[in-house]
Parts: sequence; structure tokens; C-alpha cells
Amino acid sequence: SSGSPGIAQRLEEELNRLELSEQIKVFQPGCFGFCEKGPMIQIFPDNVTYCEVSSEDVTTIVEEHFLQGKIVEHLLFMDPETKERFAQSIPFYNGQLRIALRNVGYIAPENILEYIAADGYQALSKVLFSMKPFEVIDVLKQSGLRGRGGAGFPTGSKWEFTRKSPADQRYIICNADEGDPGAFMDRSVLEGDPHSVLEAMLIAGAAIGASEGYIYVRAEYPAAIHRLKIAIEQAREYGLLGKGILGSDFSFEIELKYGAGAFVCGEETALIHSIEGARGEPSVKPPFPAQKGLWGKPTCVNNVETLANIPPIILKGAEWFSNIGTEKSKGTKVFALAGKVNNVGLVEVPMGTTLRQIIFDIGGGIKQHKTFKAAQTGGPSGGCIPTKYLDSPIDYESLAAIGSMMGSGGLIVLDEDDCMVNIAKYFLEFTMDESCGRCTACRVGTKRLHEILEKITDGKGTLEDLDNMERLCHIIKDTALCGLGQSAPNPILSTLKYFREEYIAHVVDKT
Ligand code: SF4
Repeated sequence: SSGSPGIAQRLEEELNRLELSEQIKVFQPGCFGFCEKGPMIQIFPDNVTYCEVSSEDVTTIVEEHFLQGKIVEHLLFMDPETKERFAQSIPFYNGQLRIALRNVGYIAPENILEYIAADGYQALSKVLFSMKPFEVIDVLKQSGLRGRGGAGFPTGSKWEFTRKSPADQRYIICNADEGDPGAFMDRSVLEGDPHSVLEAMLIAGAAIGASEGYIYVRAEYPAAIHRLKIAIEQAREYGLLGKGILGSDFSFEIELKYGAGAFVCGEETALIHSIEGARGEPSVKPPFPAQKGLWGKPTCVNNVETLANIPPIILKGAEWFSNIGTEKSKGTKVFALAGKVNNVGLVEVPMGTTLRQIIFDIGGGIKQHKTFKAAQTGGPSGGCIPTKYLDSPIDYESLAAIGSMMGSGGLIVLDEDDCMVNIAKYFLEFTMDESCGRCTACRVGTKRLHEILEKITDGKGTLEDLDNMERLCHIIKDTALCGLGQSAPNPILSTLKYFREEYIAHVVDKT
């Protein structure tokens, strides 16, 4: 969206013009993560990164860097405070630990050989030739990996439940229906490292006894779909899909299914219905998909980021992974850092990193030196975290304890100019629109909440409205059928808890 493909094309043209295209290869590796400074060019083996490159800058880079061996100083990242420039070790990447994003921005995603050269498909080989299915599941359980799509369910246990459900056929589904506003973690993995997802699905298939997998990907992600298609074709060409994979007796096929933009289809039962061709509506659990999922067969649904973690866990072991993170939340988490922060981008940090470290050290602080007011985590289902929790370690439990949630990793920074009542209304409008309408609590409840919020923001609300709204929030949380409805009141509840004075400032009768 910052115009990188045009820059890449321009660079190729310049190199062709100067007959340098044999010596210098250009490839588009997916997202570098530092969106604020895009388009970026990294030059290897020099290991120099140029930021905010324009079409005119391309000629300068070719003439000065490639032809004269000089670094183009003004295109290096500059620290806004110290004015220091960095060719490498840009502060944005300090404090990050890339496991899910290990290859994103480093390998050419449309070339399977680059993935293989980065240890790709070695974990699959280990699983097929030197591990038994229960050993694979055990490694995952010991690693402590939990689902990165939002709920945080232990991945190894999910695989075990699916494996233990008796059936003649089981399925693996990769949930790539990333829908939170501002979230693009899964998109980045799919665009930058699609083979890591395919490899993890193959490992899952071997471990749980499945021979078919589906990737349910948003149709709004054309680049991700394009690269997935290429990756699937190449994997088949290299004997990594189809019958007798790598000469073993394991066979596996992967099919792409496109989501049509319904947020609720990220919920696993709705997603399964959508693949089956039915309306994308959640169903009551139990039975869980691990017992009765796609076409009534045991099905394991894993999110993209969860899957991307699996090959390195198999290769490096459970202990390596479980040593990263906090007691109950192991490994790293990718956050899409957005809003009023200087360094907008994708950030992968060990669980337990504090919000302050993410927003101020990596994120470079608040735009225009304004004051931090809150961070919204967990997308429209999450909550707003005030300043007093800036130093809380971020993991599944601590976010839930302060009224928010990890969700898929959306992290929107708000400053002194943001009205928290309007923020709550914005997120509620999102969930209200996306409610599938199946249950009354969510379908009608979110509309009633919205009416009260409108009344308040129109300056016609009363203190009684605040109490009624809070009561209705709890009723919806307790009675809605799926996670969308159960979590829809979170933005209101958290803002009422931490920013009640802003609601009171809006109401007419303050007595
Ligand atoms: Fe549909 Fe909302 Fe009920 Fe979920 S809670 S089933 S989205 S109406």
C-alpha cells in the first residue's frame, strides 16, 4: 500500500538499463514489518536498509550504492530524537524476537528453494522419518504453544483431541480469515512465508492422521492467495503434497477456500459451515470440531500464526520454545502496532514484554509528542488499557485480568485527543454490523447498546443510561452464543471501567 511493487519494478528497469541485472537480483520478500518507513529496500550482502524510498531515489541508490559503493545517507533510518542514522540494527527491530515471522522479509516467498535453504521442510522430514504421531503431539504439548487466533487454547491438546476422535477421515483447517480492523499478522506470514504454513499443516496431518487440509483465506488478500497457489504448486512439484510424501506412506492434499468477508467466519464452527457451503453461522459447542467438524469428521482448526510457529518447535524442541515467554504463555506474539504511534508496523516480541516496551521502545512513542491515553488490544472484541497498566507484562492471562484480551494481536494506540466513548462506539458498530443475527442477545443487544451510546454521544444521555448499558453488556456477555457476541461489550465495559469520567462528561444530568 505504500507503493513497494512500483519501486521494485523501477529498480529492475534501472538495473536492466545499466546492464546490471545479471549481478544484482531484485526480489519482493513480503513485509519487513516496519510499515511506517515503507517502501524499504534491503541490500545484501552489504546489509544496508533504505527507508521511504521514492521512485526518484531508485536512480540515486543504483548510481551511488551499486556503481560507486557509497551509502545513500539520507535514505537511512534516522532516530527522530537523536538524529542518528542507522544502516543496520534499526531500533525498531531491537527487542523483537522473530519466530513466526522468521523468514518474512528475508526469503523470496515464490521460490521454494529459498524456504528449503532456510531449513524449510526439515521439520516435516523429522516428523515423517524419526517421530511417531504421539511424539509430535507431545512435543507441542510440552512446548506450551497456544492458539494465536484469539482464544489461546493449547495447540498440542487440540491436536490430541482430534487424533483421539475415532474416524475414517480427519481434516486440518488453516484459519486465515483474519478480520480484526488493523490486523495483518496472518496476511504477512502468508505473503512472506507461505511454505511455513503448508509445512505445519503437513506436520499436523501426519500427527493427527488427516490426509486433507483446507486453507480458509480472505478473498480480500489477493497477494496472499497468489503466493499460496504458487507455494502449493511448488510443494506438489517437489513431492511435498500428494501421495507418498517424500517417499513415505503419508499422503496429504491442501485446498484453498475463499472467505467472503464475514467477520464471524473466523469463528471455527462458522468457518466450517462456510467451507461446507452453508451460511457462515456459529453452532453450539459441544460437539467441538475436534469431535465433529468438517463434513461431520474430526477437524483441527489452527490459525496462521499458530501454524507458522510449529516447524521451528519440531526442529529446535519443546524446551527451546517453552523457555521463551511467561509461565502460562510461551513463545512470542506478533502484534499489528497501529494508531497514534510513531513506528506503525508488525512487531513480534516474547510473551511478557510490556506495553511500554512495545509502544515506546519499539514503537518510538506517541506521534507529535502527545500523551498516551490507552491501548486497544484484541481488535473489536478487546478492551482499552489505560496508562496505569503500561508496565504490565503482556500475555493471555494478564490481558484478560485487566479487561482486555490478546485476540489475534491488533494493538491500536490512542492519545490525549481520542474520545473513549467514540472509540467504544466505533468498535461496537463493527461487531453490530458483523453479528450474524443467529442469537437475540447479540443481534438485538448490540443494537440497543448502540442506541444508548448514540444518545450519550448526542449529549442526551443520563447516568441511568450508563447503568443500563453496563447491565446489558453483562447480559450479552453471559448469553450470546459465540465469541463475537460474548466479547462485543468488552470495549464498552473496559472504557466504562477506566474512563467513566469521559462518559459522565457527555451525559446531561450528572446528578
Ligand atoms: Fe451470531 Fe452474534 Fe450469536 Fe455469534 S453471538 S452466533 S455472531 S448472533
